[in-house]
Amino acid sequence: MTQAEKPIIIIGSGLAAYTLIREYRKLNTDFPITLVTQESGDFYSKPMLSTAIAGQKSAEQLVTSSGAKMAEQFNLTLHTHATVKKIDPKHQMISVVLSDGQSIDIGYSQLVLALGADQIRVPIDGDASDAIQSVNDLHDYAIFRKQLDGKKKVVILGAGLIGCEFANDLALGGYQVEVIDLADQALSRLLPKPIAQALEQQLSSLGVLWHLGSSIQSISHDGDHLRVSLRNGQSINADLVLSALGLAPRVQLAKEAGIATNRGIIVNRQLETSIQNIYSLGDCAEVEGQVLPYVMPIMQAARTLAMVLAGQDASLVYPAMPVMIKTPALPLIVSPPPIGSSGSWSIKQIDGGMEGLFHNDQAELIGFALAGSATSQRATLTKLLPPILGAS
Ligand SMILES: Cc1cc2nc3c(=O)[nH]c(=O)nc-3n(C[C@H](O)[C@H](O)[C@H](O)COP(=O)(O)OP(=O)(O)OC[C@H]3O[C@@H](n4cnc5c(N)ncnc54)[C@H](O)[C@@H]3O)c2cc1C
Repeated sequence: MTQAEKPIIIIGSGLAAYTLIREYRKLNTDFPITLVTQESGDFYSKPMLSTAIAGQKSAEQLVTSSGAKMAEQFNLTLHTHATVKKIDPKHQMISVVLSDGQSIDIGYSQLVLALGADQIRVPIDGDASDAIQSVNDLHDYAIFRKQLDGKKKVVILGAGLIGCEFANDLALGGYQVEVIDLADQALSRLLPKPIAQALEQQLSSLGVLWHLGSSIQSISHDGDHLRVSLRNGQSINADLVLSALGLAPRVQLAKEAGIATNRGIIVNRQLETSIQNIYSLGDCAEVEGQVLPYVMPIMQAARTLAMVLAGQDASLVYPAMPVMIKTPALPLIVSPPPIGSSGSWSIKQIDGGMEGLFHNDQAELIGFALAGSATSQRATLTKLLPPILGAS
């Protein structure tokens, strides 16, 4: 087999991998694709993980198409529960440990890294620190759901998007929830303080307790419970502790192969890494300094990369891409200003909601945060925002 006849190999079976495959198959129905994933290969929508507990959904119910079906529909060779251990760019090969423990090498014509991101773990003292859980894929969700059985109280570390969504979902599911965050407000990276306070109040009315401006010191076993001690001297009893402290792109595999990485795997507007014929997209990738771990950037990147892999000219553009925060207690849509922007928020209370607009020093609108009824302004305001990555 010549190099060009070898398959496209995609590592990962998350939204990035499967969206890319869908887009590529629109352009080329038969070029061989091999997909290697540590997961089952089943297709599910990851954002559903933080809204499924209240509805008592099992992990199986979140699967919309099995791995086998995806393989058939998109004409894929699928290796599930398989881990890529090494990339050899010189010979265009990857080394894989299969589910039965066997190791194989597979050659590629083009390689795509759709590796996702890990939940950030911080070292925490105490004899129960290993009891801290996180929910970052379907398997984690299945474990967490099982552990929730018969339990009452969950402490969440982190009041970011994932922490707040789980707080809302668990509270709706009848659990007592306490949230700890170092910042003095919820969603500190995304919301201006008055809107964050409105969210905190709405979640408080569902029973959520907040420990903001606090950090955790240790977690220990205390009979059948866990005892979470804060640095301010307070301590909280919990049945389960869920960590939602943010995401770190998975870069290690790329780094070891000599691919340039920063916070994420560095790619250009064609989604190509520093090494020829190796591409990356999704939560693991960094484009012009930006790691955007959300669905909309994945859609944009997948369309562009599909064209590139099919031999067409394409260049990634990111329009403004507001993110919906799934907190039904106070629905939110945010398009935060770029990190480090100078300017200021103006906040307006409207009937049933709040509108926060961020203008830069030149009085241009560069971000917004909409709550409650103000979320209806999403489309109008999005049109006014500059693109995140304009045409190059
Ligand atoms: C709870 C939760 C709620 C969210 N809600 C929203 C939302 O409302 N809106 C929004 O826009 N975004 C949301 N997101 C973010 C969004 O879900 C992610 O941006 C997206 O799913 C990431 O897809 P991905 O394919 O890049 O990564 P992943 O889905 O993490 O896929 C990575 C894949 O790579 C595989 N892999 C990694 N390393 C290897 C290896 N060495 N060998 C083999 N396989 C490997 C993994 O097994 C996995 O299959 C949410 C995220 C979470 C966790």
